[in-house]
Amino acid sequence: MTAGQALADGALALQAAHKESPFLDAGLLLAAAMGYSRDKLLASRSEQLPDYSLKTLRGYIDRRLSGEPVAYILGYKDFRHLRFFVDRRVLVPRPETEHLVELVLEMLPARDVLAGGAPIRHHDAFAGCGCVGLSIAHERPDVKVSLSDASGDALDVLSENAKLLDTARPGGAVQWSLGSVLSAAAAPLDGISANPPYVSSSFVDEMDTQGNKEPRMALDGGSDGLDLYPLIAAQALPLLKHGGFLALEIGDEQGDAVSRILAAAGFSGIRVIQDLAAQDRVVCGVKP
Ligand code: GLN
Repeated sequence: MTAGQALADGALALQAAHKESPFLDAGLLLAAAMGYSRDKLLASRSEQLPDYSLKTLRGYIDRRLSGEPVAYILGYKDFRHLRFFVDRRVLVPRPETEHLVELVLEMLPARDVLAGGAPIRHHDAFAGCGCVGLSIAHERPDVKVSLSDASGDALDVLSENAKLLDTARPGGAVQWSLGSVLSAAAAPLDGISANPPYVSSSFVDEMDTQGNKEPRMALDGGSDGLDLYPLIAAQALPLLKHGGFLALEIGDEQGDAVSRILAAAGFSGIRVIQDLAAQDRVVCGVKP
């Protein structure tokens, strides 16, 4: 069988099972099964597929059919310009979450080399594989970044990523620890970010019946998905410097509710940022 035929077969199997982006996914899985880049795969469609690659591909397609995200099968997910190791212990980074990183990079104070003084400090909670906090650390090596998650399993994945990305710099500029909500964060902070679980429990139930393989703990935000936001806002305020900010990813119908939660906790300058699909995705507030 040629690579082109294997690609078509794989894509059709995924399409028949109503999987999203069947052609893209089959291409990614076939490229991985052949040990090729996707570019090389496109130029190799008439090549005969070795038996072992075909067997590997069929295994990958079966896993995808059973609901496993492509990122778990490949073992990584690209996020902005970085590649993160992922497996079942963590949520797969979503492209929408890149907006959270962009906002934090925009909000963090610029490095003032001449001023010297205390370093800029940022904390990323609900860190999962580390895609938000480690991206910030990677881009702003002058900022002391700390990360936390309530899952020890997630922290194991995160520490792999810190090593892979070489953000675990001498001097301990990037640190991570176990802790729920913001219990592991230490004042005074210039910024706090989080992508907490914000999907309603009933929707996660539905996802589970459809074969969801991602950790429930990373998705389930209680009956309306909003359980964590009041806690985060209340715990963030005393940790932040005056003028420091809190930036939170939200579900697309939670912009108004989370803005109200931040205002009630005492934040000002609250704004909602939309993603590329024009859906509310990040809420940000500043400590007066
Ligand atoms: N964006 C994720 C989803 O839609 C949810 C992430 C989260 O709960 N923080 O599945």
